[in-house]
Amino acid sequence: MSEGKNLSQVIRERMKMANKRYWAGDNVSEFVSDEDKATLIKEATVAFEGVLDSLLIDRENDPNSHGTAKRLAKMYFNEIMAGRYDPAPDATAFPNDSEDRYEGMLVVRSELRSMCSHHHQPVSGVAYIGIIAAQKFIGLSKYTRIAQWCARRGTLQEELANDIAREIEKATGAKDLGVYIQAVHGCCENRGIMAHSSLTQTTVLKGAFKEDGNTKKEFFDNIKLQQEFAPR
Ligand SMILES: [Zn+2]
Repeated sequence: MSEGKNLSQVIRERMKMANKRYWAGDNVSEFVSDEDKATLIKEATVAFEGVLDSLLIDRENDPNSHGTAKRLAKMYFNEIMAGRYDPAPDATAFPNDSEDRYEGMLVVRSELRSMCSHHHQPVSGVAYIGIIAAQKFIGLSKYTRIAQWCARRGTLQEELANDIAREIEKATGAKDLGVYIQAVHGCCENRGIMAHSSLTQTTVLKGAFKEDGNTKKEFFDNIKLQQEFAPR
């Protein structure tokens, strides 16, 4: 590590040199090793101690606040923002190119937990991912793994829908796909307008899902069926 600099400074400089964007919703795993992560958690712990001090919270004598800085640092890296530091989930592809290949639509419902990048408040909801199978398949659980990997960052729901669509396209090679997200936002429920029933919906449609009315209708009919089966 360079003299007098902490690791996060060094890594930020490397990313700048490489023209790598490192917004809250970006994955930076190529620049962060497991060893780096342990050092960054220590660094963030000290920084969170400073935040608690500024908030005038007695972290020495309050037993509930003792260790909170470290818990926060670990939670950010390993849980609520893990999708920034972990590499893409391994999604082994299976061929779908024989004579009796599956040509229908596939719709997967994935539970999502995310965090808004404006207020760091929780976002929780469901993504419906629909594709028309191309030349390959990925395991069903992989759709959810990919969606959660995209969600476990600081996001905006609009960006999240785009991110999931892009990563699903990469993993499956499908050009015809749709992503529909329905979520409630902590930043509307816990603060600001304090609306307890606010629900936000975003949709990204590509290829036939966008251009062909029947495909689009089939996707939303499937979503309705799924919602009847497992309403949120
Ligand atoms: Zn927010």
